[in-house]
Amino acid sequence: MSDAYDPSCIFCGIVAGEVPTELLHASDSVVAFRDLHPAAPTHILLVPKPHLRDLSELGDGHAEMLTDLVQAATHLAKTEGVDESGWRLVSNVGSDAGQAVFHLHFHLLGGRKLGALG
Ligand code: AMP
Repeated sequence: MSDAYDPSCIFCGIVAGEVPTELLHASDSVVAFRDLHPAAPTHILLVPKPHLRDLSELGDGHAEMLTDLVQAATHLAKTEGVDESGWRLVSNVGSDAGQAVFHLHFHLLGGRKLGALG
């Protein structure tokens, strides 16, 4: 497993500030920005800064980073005004799940009635 910057990865480019994006949140370990193709009125991507392919590359040393990410999602749900109506945090792993960008990320979705999973 390598969590080094990958120059061919679009999310590494965003983390590095090389791909212009309006950041809604940035901490030592996580950035958040709006999805280019929103699937709901609120559709924000939360992206850990290290280049991890997907959830399967998380280890013991990433616990603090994950807590930071979930707290950022909770905060953004509030600022988006969906904390009361409801929201979802989801991470796709692999082709059957529809993963298209192979840098771990979580979709924060809300602002409409979300369908059943699957
Ligand atoms: P996934 O299918 O879980 O890999 O989701 C990848 C998501 O990244 C998709 O919803 C894309 O619309 C989104 N995306 C790809 N490139 C960008 C970008 N430059 N800025 C914002 N969202 C992006």
